Amino acid sequence: MVEVYGEIAELYQARGRTARAKAGLLAAVALAESLGSRQEAAKGYERLSQWCEEAGEYAEALAYHRQFHDRWKTIHSEDGDRRLRRMQAEYETKHARHEAEMSREYAAEMEQLARTDALTGLANRRTMEEQIRRCFEQSRTENAPLGVAITDIDRFKSVNDTFGHAIGDAVIRQVARLLADVAGQNPAAFAGRYGGEEFVLLLPGLDTGTAIAVCEDFRESVAAFDWATVAPGLRVTVSVGVCGDHTVRDDTAMIARADEQLYVAKQTGRNRVCT
Ligand code: GH3
Ligand code: MG
Ligand code: MG
Repeated sequence: MVEVYGEIAELYQARGRTARAKAGLLAAVALAESLGSRQEAAKGYERLSQWCEEAGEYAEALAYHRQFHDRWKTIHSEDGDRRLRRMQAEYETKHARHEAEMSREYAAEMEQLARTDALTGLANRRTMEEQIRRCFEQSRTENAPLGVAITDIDRFKSVNDTFGHAIGDAVIRQVARLLADVAGQNPAAFAGRYGGEEFVLLLPGLDTGTAIAVCEDFRESVAAFDWATVAPGLRVTVSVGVCGDHTVRDDTAMIARADEQLYVAKQTGRNRVCT
């Protein structure tokens, strides 16, 4: 209806019947406003202002132009408000999603850090204790073999004393890498740093003979490593204690057995694997 009124008004205007044209257009504008269509009302006022200007009725043209401008301002600020609100909502949603992702990532990172030894990147003692318990229980339920090995760097105090603490740290890191290499050759194996210069190697599914062979590989790889690349004159060996008996009372008893064997290895000359 607004459009039809408008078009009829245009026809009157084209035939020079200005008064009828204006009245028609004002009716169209009034209808548009009663329907809440500011856009149509603005269009009508703009057209009225043009007609008046063409007729030299400047005061009236200005009055209509003001009405047009008024509607136009409202439309655009409403548009702007809506756009702003939508942008704000989008931003808040994105921000919330990002925050949730960040805190998830952060929690995962923290969890990872809490399980890892900072110096070597291997599993730390807490993780190892969990793993030993898990492996032990699994070996019990499946009645499958399990090898638990503890290894300790030989005469490490003298490495620190002779070469300094930084070289000592480098030795711990390199021994950890060699242990990880050996563990990496067995998909079920699990290596971790148990204490200062002590490491644990878990070998689920491996009988005692095979577990000893794996530990021998590790011991040899340490003895054969070119330690002069870390510090001239440096030599490093490790001793290893192995327990392959999963019929003992519990996981701590397995560790204790392996530790006893480590002590035997130290007592009988170091750089060896005992079981
Ligand atoms: P053994 O052959 O009997 O094992 O002799 P050892 O000298 O290795 O004796 P022990 O195991 O008692 O010495 C461990 C030393 O390791 C003592 C400590 O100062 C050093 N140590 C422990 N943690 C670290 C570390 O993170 N970095 C360095 N550089 N030294 C460490
Ligand atoms: Mg020690
Ligand atoms: Mg030692």
